Amino acid sequence: MQDCLFCKIASKQISSKIIYENDFVIAFNDINPVAPVHVLVIPKIHIKDLNNIGKENEKYVLECIKAIKEVAKITGICDDGYRVISNTGENGGQVIPHLHFHVIGGKNLGAKIVN
Ligand code: 5GP
Ligand code: ZN
Repeated sequence: MQDCLFCKIASKQISSKIIYENDFVIAFNDINPVAPVHVLVIPKIHIKDLNNIGKENEKYVLECIKAIKEVAKITGICDDGYRVISNTGENGGQVIPHLHFHVIGGKNLGAKIVN
């Protein structure tokens, strides 16, 4: 989608530190990390958020979920554990309206999800 930041990252019009990629997804370092490992996993097609998943794009979403595990392995956080977040809509704090999964780890994040 034109004017979507993450579509531009997916098409490499905007550069990012790519951690993992296949035909369906791209995973790259968050520009403003909140933990030693903070990677964003996104589909290579524009899907706005979790509310817009359907038959027509579910393959991309499944590939995102599978890519999360690959990212965890590549970044070395698989065994120690990590957190996956997909902010959705205004109350969810979603800033970029292109579906993405934050993969966060590399330290003990505790049990509290919201401050
Ligand atoms: P949201 O709040 O929408 O769930 O998360 C958007 C995330 O995208 C934020 O964590 C933010 O740091 C990250 N971000 C915003 N702009 C860029 C960018 O240009 N490059 C990268 N790598 N990350 C970005
Ligand atoms: Zn997009």
